[in-house]
Amino acid sequence: KSTNSSRKFALYGGRHTVTMIPGDGIGPEVMQGVKQVFLCAGVPVDFEEVNVTSENFTSGVCEDAITSIMRNEVAIKGNVETNPDILDHDQKSANITLRTRLELFANVIKVKSVKGVKTRHDDIDIRIIRENTEGEYSNLEHESIPGVVESLKIITAEKSLRIARFAFNYAKRNGRKKVTAVHKANIMKMGDGLFLQCCRETAKDFPEIEFNDVIVDNATMQMVSNPWQFDVMVMPNLYGNIIGNICCGLVGGPGIVAGANIGSKYRVFETATRNTGKSIAGLNIANPSAIIFSSALMLKYIGLHKYASLINQALVDTLETDRIHTPDLGGNYHTSDVIDSVCRRVETQAMKVRYD
Ligand code: ADP
Ligand code: MG
Repeated sequence: KSTNSSRKFALYGGRHTVTMIPGDGIGPEVMQGVKQVFLCAGVPVDFEEVNVTSENFTSGVCEDAITSIMRNEVAIKGNVETNPDILDHDQKSANITLRTRLELFANVIKVKSVKGVKTRHDDIDIRIIRENTEGEYSNLEHESIPGVVESLKIITAEKSLRIARFAFNYAKRNGRKKVTAVHKANIMKMGDGLFLQCCRETAKDFPEIEFNDVIVDNATMQMVSNPWQFDVMVMPNLYGNIIGNICCGLVGGPGIVAGANIGSKYRVFETATRNTGKSIAGLNIANPSAIIFSSALMLKYIGLHKYASLINQALVDTLETDRIHTPDLGGNYHTSDVIDSVCRRVETQAMKVRYD
């Protein structure tokens, strides 16, 4: 059972405070959409904005963001560009710093086909659960002798058991039938072997949920040829990144899929594929749907269910019925057209929510 009913979120004078990190690239312009839609819907949420960017995050701004999220417990975030020219090789990016410092151990992405968005496969409904703090993202690389680099992938029983349990609990809570573990235990017998073993052990505590495992290379192939076989999928960090992107591609790309980073205390809501979209920034063509869906997930989490479904439905109707599609979905509409349509739909429904 989700614990949020017993949780108290920052609530001052009946309003919630949520940290907002617009991020780089298209972040600010799509986040503008979230602000506009919340305003139109009369959502009782105030944003505490922290402008972490690739330029400033080493100068204390990232700490400000962490302090803010620790206070509010909930955040919505655009991607902060990782600039290899600024970072030392062993220095963590702003995104990874936030995830590890806040112990956001699970990345959950909700991959569901939206009718009206033309794709090769219909009716996809998959949840990807990705270990978010270790594996290949441990920032442990060194050149032991010139020409020899060791890049360490860390797999621990503690974190593998934690993510496995999270995945099975997620499946149980959400009425899902099956959990599939993705790994490469045939090659990385120890590391991925441990991950797989942790998933198998955890599965024993959930007899009502079917469990299977698939090797990551086969998983990528199956994902494009027969994605309907998958329900909830759990995997280490890098595979989660790759499988997650394939999965998002199946239902329309980086512009429409929401994601959440979940820890035992804090939650940071993002888009699923965490793109900065630098090349399309400022052109009013980025698809704001992913971050707006994500904002609806955030509202559901803090207990504002009616506002969550109001905004979610307004966006689904904008995409399905109005067919207001940005270029990534094959349309000619602008970022602001999507936002305006969601606002229009929300405004006509919002009165009902407020006086219900
Ligand atoms: P960039 O190299 O421009 O920073 P990313 O790697 O962040 O791009 O994103 C990968 C691709 O997905 C790019 O072509 C980018 O334009 C596209 N993309 C990412 N997010 C969106 C979005 N919200 N709407 C439309 N296209 C997007
Ligand atoms: Mg990029």
